[in-house]
Amino acid sequence: MNSRGIDTISLDGAPVRDALLESLKNRIIEAGHPHISLATVLVGSDSPSQKYVASKHKAAAELGIDSVRVELPEHATQEELEREVLALAKNASVHGILVQMPLPVHLNAERILAMIPAEKDVDGLTEASLGKLVRGTPGHIGCTPLGVLRLLEYYNIATSGKHAVVIGRSTLVGLPLSVLLARKGIDATVTLAHSKTHHLEKLCLSADIVISATGCPRSITGAHIAPGATVIDVGISRTDDGVVGDVDAFSVRGIAGALTPMPGGTGLMTVACLMENTVNAAAMQGVAV
Ligand code: NAD
Repeated sequence: MNSRGIDTISLDGAPVRDALLESLKNRIIEAGHPHISLATVLVGSDSPSQKYVASKHKAAAELGIDSVRVELPEHATQEELEREVLALAKNASVHGILVQMPLPVHLNAERILAMIPAEKDVDGLTEASLGKLVRGTPGHIGCTPLGVLRLLEYYNIATSGKHAVVIGRSTLVGLPLSVLLARKGIDATVTLAHSKTHHLEKLCLSADIVISATGCPRSITGAHIAPGATVIDVGISRTDDGVVGDVDAFSVRGIAGALTPMPGGTGLMTVACLMENTVNAAAMQGVAV
């Protein structure tokens, strides 16, 4: 018990990630190790992007998923990139395509995303995938929103009829997450807050679940959190103090009922959910897995 009265549970990502990867591994073994392939497309030599792509290939290799790596130089043209993505889109032995974002500014990311067939869109970023999410039809859900859902499920955090405040409305995280949480079967009552929202503190105080995805370091404090509420920190900011989240954990602990650690929380889920989407992509394309 904390001096402020509530023993805040830590929603660690590691056991959730491990359980998800283990279940995918078993699914692949039970299917007799069918060929499943994930292709990544990396343009340029941005070092965080290179690291992210490498971690995705490592996770794939550990599950027995084959990797295709396409790497283009920083100055690659739109036509060159489109040629590569089109070839992957047409290649029946490639089940998932991930174009690492952000692309260099001279490239049109929307046109590239539009070339990825919905069933191969393991990042869940295309108009088709976002449309399916809104329609509630089967499709790939973005890895970070899906990771948040998997965390809530694993730790039995009730969502039905609960008020969830999602802070941040990007098409990568906040917007799809708000749609996902409101879906039939998950059934949260969702408020989507953003940079123009008034009275954010008051709004968050009425929430059972607060999910922050703004990239504003330590901006969510104990003053935002109702006693016992669940707090999910998606933000990642590199500061002089190192990598920090959107949540001021020191101030929130002892008030929240549960809180994701940073690091070690939501960030661990993203690659695991990419693997989930890749296995599902193969199944959608006729692989018996
Ligand atoms: P983004 O910049 O595209 O969107 C940020 C959103 O936050 C915007 O919608 C904006 O309106 C809102 N916002 C900004 N300042 C605000 C404020 N003061 N009050 C309320 N809302 C505010 O960013 P993104 O791509 O959605 O990423 C958000 C954060 O999540 C970043 O820190 C990013 O690094 C992190 N991220 C983490 C993971 C993960 O695996 N945990 C994955 C993707 C992104």
